[in-house]
Amino acid sequence: MTKSEIEELVFKHSLFNASQHEGKANLGSVINKIIAEKPELKSDIKNLMNEIKPIIEKINSMGLDEQIKLLQKDFPDMKSETKNTEKFPLPSLPNFNSYETIVTRFSPNPNGHLHIGHVKAFRLDFRYTQKHAGKFFLRFDDTNPVAIKTEFYNEILENLDWMGIKPDQITYTSDYLDEIYKIATQMFHDNHLYICECKSDMIKNNRLKKQICEHNLSDNSDKQISDFLSSRISGVVRFKGDMKSNNTAMRDPVMLRSVDEEHPRTGKKYSIWPTYDLAAPITDCLEGVSHALRSKEFELRDELYNEITQILSDQGKVKSRPSLVSFSRLSMKGSPTSKSNIKSLIDKGQIDNWHDIRLVTLSALHKRGFIPEGISNFVDSLGLSKSESSPDFELLASFNRKARDKSDKRYFFVPNPIKLKVNNIPIKSVTLKHHPTENLGDRTIDISDEFFVSPDDINSLNEGDEVRLMDLFNIKIINKSSTVTTEYTSTEPISSLKKIHWVAHDGINFNLLIPDNEKYTVSSDGSFEFLPDSLTTHSGIAESKCKNLSEGDMLQFNRIGFCRVISADSAILSHK
Ligand SMILES: [Zn+2]
Repeated sequence: MTKSEIEELVFKHSLFNASQHEGKANLGSVINKIIAEKPELKSDIKNLMNEIKPIIEKINSMGLDEQIKLLQKDFPDMKSETKNTEKFPLPSLPNFNSYETIVTRFSPNPNGHLHIGHVKAFRLDFRYTQKHAGKFFLRFDDTNPVAIKTEFYNEILENLDWMGIKPDQITYTSDYLDEIYKIATQMFHDNHLYICECKSDMIKNNRLKKQICEHNLSDNSDKQISDFLSSRISGVVRFKGDMKSNNTAMRDPVMLRSVDEEHPRTGKKYSIWPTYDLAAPITDCLEGVSHALRSKEFELRDELYNEITQILSDQGKVKSRPSLVSFSRLSMKGSPTSKSNIKSLIDKGQIDNWHDIRLVTLSALHKRGFIPEGISNFVDSLGLSKSESSPDFELLASFNRKARDKSDKRYFFVPNPIKLKVNNIPIKSVTLKHHPTENLGDRTIDISDEFFVSPDDINSLNEGDEVRLMDLFNIKIINKSSTVTTEYTSTEPISSLKKIHWVAHDGINFNLLIPDNEKYTVSSDGSFEFLPDSLTTHSGIAESKCKNLSEGDMLQFNRIGFCRVISADSAILSHK
């Protein structure tokens, strides 16, 4: 081997190894790989080491992004799977080696709000492109003008941005209409489409009876096609599938139809719109999508999708046809995700809107105090699973707890407080850390002989009992008759003493809004209802420093849970 051949070999394996190990190549593993590929180099390993060291140094000084790009560019064959270094490994994509670049798209319809189920979709799309140094597109699937609203486009962009997802490109199916018309015209010429003037009932009936209609048999002239596309004749355009097929999706599905409604982006320019079944495969092909990930409900439509991409391939419109990947839809126990369910809760006055904190729309989760890291880890932990999953709300909370625990400041809050008097206090103030282990600063609390405590803590105590005011000092109960009177006994913690939490005399009135996703019913017809106590308000006293908090601040009330501040005197309990 020449010196430059050896160099290239070293470079390839170092780069690959680095890209698999968070940007840092390991000398030993690189040597092993090189010798495995060229055993003859083993005889002069000293020389080889001298070659390798400076190259590894150079590569390790690059960023991971740069390494992956370089690897893709110079050694495309090395586009291998990441080993199990991922926190939540993903299964391999089908045929991933046969595409130049892995391209996925998240294609929401801007006719509603994103919820946790959508997070599953875009996290999978996004993670696969990260894994393969590919590209991730956000495509607005906006070909049914009826329910599309400008605000939904904006909200989806905000949601993705908040979740830390940066698309490589943002596209709109409504931008492709001219191209879709052109392709459809060619599909007419190739005998794949026909204009059907049957009434919708008739179409439905014929589908059930597996019967073709007369229109299926006649050829459409160029004039008819262009008259249809410019809405001069009525009817719908159907695909010549197979009316005898056991797959109902193949029984001449509708591909284009007239929708006489203004579109937020194109106005009244078009009135013939493609259905999802036509728009999805065409836009996927035009954009060079390598893998179209769809939830399992679409599986029946896979055959149709593949037939259309084959037609596009025959038309020369596509280099490599997209591969379909199915994943199971994610719903949650304790909160509905279906549009009709949520709409009915709004109609019944159970919730005000789509941002109610008991819901799992992204806006609701955000407002409640879920953070992107918690939501993402929860969703990623579920993987690509093909079986339907409906995890408990508590599982989502557990991931959020982990994500927030180190960054939330701790404060004191006492619900429904009663007064407690302490005699002989030796101090005038106390400085407490905001976090038991992390360095999140501290606060100084002025102390007088008056405190607020929870009746629950006091009720079980008798006169003469000794307890500890948490992080403060120990007291003995003297009198429980009207105000609870106690006296200071000592400062050092005594492990046997029960700890109770407290707020000093200058505490402020504070409300806690508590959502509870275990309080719901699902009736036999599947309709979901929240029980009245699924959202309650608890008033209490918070320590005085809480008056400096502002909307959006996250904190933990000791022994209560993780909260998000919503106003100067109230917070939401995100979860325990
Ligand atoms: Zn017909």
